[in-house]
Amino acid sequence: MQDMITRARSFAVERHQGQTRKGAAKEPYTVHLEEVAALVAEFGGSHEVIAAAWLHDTVEDCEPTSHEEIAAIFGDAIASIVAEVTDDKNLPKEERKRLQIVNAPKKSAQAALLKICDKISNIRAIGNSPPEDWPGERQLAYLAWAVSVVENLPALPDAVQAEFRASLSATEAAILERIGHPMG
Ligand code: ZN
Repeated sequence: MQDMITRARSFAVERHQGQTRKGAAKEPYTVHLEEVAALVAEFGGSHEVIAAAWLHDTVEDCEPTSHEEIAAIFGDAIASIVAEVTDDKNLPKEERKRLQIVNAPKKSAQAALLKICDKISNIRAIGNSPPEDWPGERQLAYLAWAVSVVENLPALPDAVQAEFRASLSATEAAILERIGHPMG
């Protein structure tokens, strides 16, 4: 199964080639994937969830990567975890965001762990290097939405929930500092 993780990493690095994160630092997108995979491993994810962490944005962001292709290469177990955390890009953005909250309680424990780790990575990124075209209000709105998603996820280990709250507090403080309302 270690080999499966290596193959998932190679596949994701190839498919996301040339993509960067939304933040002003324009980091390679693979930095996000590596962070999510490391978080999943740290908080007890199986090899399948770690492989799915590498692959989690390929169907959404790397056309023409499909669920069928992931299933053919990596098997149904990994493909179904990826599918659980993949939004339907045919829907408008606001509807996709609403559905993440509505569908959160139905997630498997594996997909829930991957999803909270994805949100931790995205929240940290907003703290460290927010998108240039996102005002502070929009950054704070992202945090509030992420909390709504995570609050509705089932079966999360305490340690990963604690890490989520720590990332949230640090990023909130960084945003408030930037927009000139330092806390305390
Ligand atoms: Zn992601």
